[in-house]
Amino acid sequence: MLSRGHAAPASLPSVCARPRVGVVGAGQLARMMVEAEELAGVDVVLLADSPADSAAGLGAPTFYGSARDPIALARLASETDVVTFDHELLDLDQLRTLRDTGHLVAPSPNALRWATDKAHQRRGLHAAGVAVPHFEVVESLGELDEALKAWSEPPVVKAVSGGYDGRGVVVSRSLDEARRSGAEFLTRSAVVLEERLDLLAELSQVVVRSANGDIETYPLVTTVQVAGMCSEVLYPSHTAAPDAAALAVEIAGLIDLVGVMAVELFVTPQGLVVNELALRPHNSGHWTIEGCQTSQFENHLRAVAGLDLASTTPRARAVAMVNLVGADAPSDDDARERHPEVSFHLYGKAWRPGRKLGHVTALGDSLDEVRARAWAAARDWGTREEGDL
Ligand code: ADP
Repeated sequence: MLSRGHAAPASLPSVCARPRVGVVGAGQLARMMVEAEELAGVDVVLLADSPADSAAGLGAPTFYGSARDPIALARLASETDVVTFDHELLDLDQLRTLRDTGHLVAPSPNALRWATDKAHQRRGLHAAGVAVPHFEVVESLGELDEALKAWSEPPVVKAVSGGYDGRGVVVSRSLDEARRSGAEFLTRSAVVLEERLDLLAELSQVVVRSANGDIETYPLVTTVQVAGMCSEVLYPSHTAAPDAAALAVEIAGLIDLVGVMAVELFVTPQGLVVNELALRPHNSGHWTIEGCQTSQFENHLRAVAGLDLASTTPRARAVAMVNLVGADAPSDDDARERHPEVSFHLYGKAWRPGRKLGHVTALGDSLDEVRARAWAAARDWGTREEGDL
């Protein structure tokens, strides 16, 4: 059912109508989009799985249904001007049908494939001359066994689709482990085997491109991973990578991006290598809510609605964002009151060990200071893991 909170009276001139953006999925990204709708000048309509979803209950008109239910998708599309996404667990053929029946889908199904299909992404970037890890795609157990014979070092094994936050990725320590992981992933999707790189740092370059052609990049950040999951994001980045912004703009053009894209980068002794493309507001951009003139969420909404983008200039010399991850005991949301010097974002999700439940952001003059403040608040709340820089 849709509650039509924002329906404009038919007599209003169309110039007053705000673009309506349908968001498939109602997780924390959709929640932060809803929080940005006023600034962006759009109305968000959600397709949620359940009233317990992070973004449901914030007041945005909401349909209930699955992101892979063609009827639910068509209903969302017919009530909105453009459809965008909270996550990438999508059926691209259904989205093509939606597009072919006259609905705007942003990013487009063809662009989304660069994020949902690691084999397509690796092949496409390699063909375009962009540096990616040396890789090989296998589609059967026979191909896996044959391929592994040629690897002297154990490869990193990645499911082509369906993985996130390090699930679907195994940095294997032996060829046996690579075979076991590959065989398990093959029950669900093809597999990418790739060289294990010596990572000096992991960076993320966020870029946003509007349907009207306007394009902006955000400042480069360092991302720190613990067990394959991002634990913190730091601006400015520890490693300078002057080419990162131009690379992200080039990839945005290559894939005909509309919306926000994060280009996850490895810094290696051989230079900058692309790890992943995420075609949605990304964890490495959450710091922009307080840290930049315009957040990635506001600019994503502007972009998919075909509006001009707004400034991505940072508001402070240093910004740290730390993810709030459920530990063994339930976390203490009252920590929010004890740390007014940081911005808390709690996603309204049920506590579970290892689950991302929110984030904190601290702004200031030096990275050491903002990092210390953000971690003090995150630890007091209940986050346990701290990554190595
Ligand atoms: P996901 O899609 O789940 O985010 P990623 O492909 O980003 O997974 O991999 C998760 C983490 O695993 C990376 O952030 C990095 O730390 C490590 N990793 C992935 N690929 C490689 C590689 N080729 N060499 C070394 N480490 C890697």
